[in-house]
Amino acid sequence: MQYMQEQFIEYPKFKDNINILEAETQEYIKKQSLNKADEQVYIIPVVFHVIYNSASDNIPDSRIKKQIEVLNEDFRLRSKDTAKIPDIFKQYAADTKIEFRLANQDPFGNYTTGIERVKSNAEKWYAPVNTVKFAYNGGADAWDSKYYLNVWVCSFELGNTEDGFTLAYSQFPGGNPAYDGIVIQPFEVGVYGDAKGRTLTHEIGHWLNLYHIWGDDQDLGDKCARGDNVEDTPNQETMNFGVPEFPHQSCDNVSDMFMNHMDYVDDEMKLMFTHGQAARMRSAIKLRRNEIINSSGYILSVETQNQLEDYVSIYPNPVSNGLLNIRLSTQIENLKISLKNIMSNNIYSKELVADKNIKINTSKIPDGIYFIEISTKTNSITKKIIISN
Ligand SMILES: [Zn+2]
Repeated sequence: MQYMQEQFIEYPKFKDNINILEAETQEYIKKQSLNKADEQVYIIPVVFHVIYNSASDNIPDSRIKKQIEVLNEDFRLRSKDTAKIPDIFKQYAADTKIEFRLANQDPFGNYTTGIERVKSNAEKWYAPVNTVKFAYNGGADAWDSKYYLNVWVCSFELGNTEDGFTLAYSQFPGGNPAYDGIVIQPFEVGVYGDAKGRTLTHEIGHWLNLYHIWGDDQDLGDKCARGDNVEDTPNQETMNFGVPEFPHQSCDNVSDMFMNHMDYVDDEMKLMFTHGQAARMRSAIKLRRNEIINSSGYILSVETQNQLEDYVSIYPNPVSNGLLNIRLSTQIENLKISLKNIMSNNIYSKELVADKNIKINTSKIPDGIYFIEISTKTNSITKKIIISN
């Protein structure tokens, strides 16, 4: 939050951007709740810029890969820790349908591991730590933040923070694009000692417009004054640390939802996002980070039929308004689409290069039963479609 206050001064548009986004988010969530069909899995390409001086700060690929695994477990609610969510909160725990991948294509279209390493003369970075985001300072430039989530891994120290030692910090949507992304200490990446990789989960929450669950009103006279603008998180007084005992009550709630990723508890206790938080993050993507889910930063090479099922959505069915939509969660290698009638005659066929949203005009196709086949070099799925215009 201190970072945000500083950025409001350095980049004055940020404050207006935040307020406008808040209004649009509330509006968007209202509309979305009427339209429950939003099942698309969003895939976000990530680049890690590892800026090191000492060997220990030059963390191995394995830690970064593990970090990506943790993010996907947390955002898809697939961690086995979720069993620890108290019963009264289980119904609020959400699969956000947001996933992360190490980028496999750089901004120039070349193959990349998604990990960039820069040996720097600086042993540590001091405020303003954003200097690490520029190659001319010995750090690394952001890859276009429209298309990549940038994570800078470096040892740093911020001056006079109220909350003591900062493990990582993130920028909300609407800030300076050159700074967009997350800075994190090397020892917080992946599973390492007490760290279970959830600092980055928390920071990505901010990057997707989530506030701390207690509403950042801990310094106000009335600590229950503000919430986090999410409907299904209970109002709570202030942050929790460590591994609190359930229930922990404040602000007339049944208990603080301290096991939420947006509290300050230990990693082992950070277990869930709520449906409201998921809707807020998905809105942030659609409203401000839409290019990133259409990015060429990650190209999926489909290995199984299930993956195709997961990443391709076809709607509506039956098709009654003359338009059949095929939507891909990510770019897929060598994808072919064909629409056949029951005699197996091709009505339509297309090889996809870069588009991820395909619309087939069905208004001139006679009503009836059809089959749509989606295939890669090694896998294919076929779905029955009814056209009734
Ligand atoms: Zn935070």
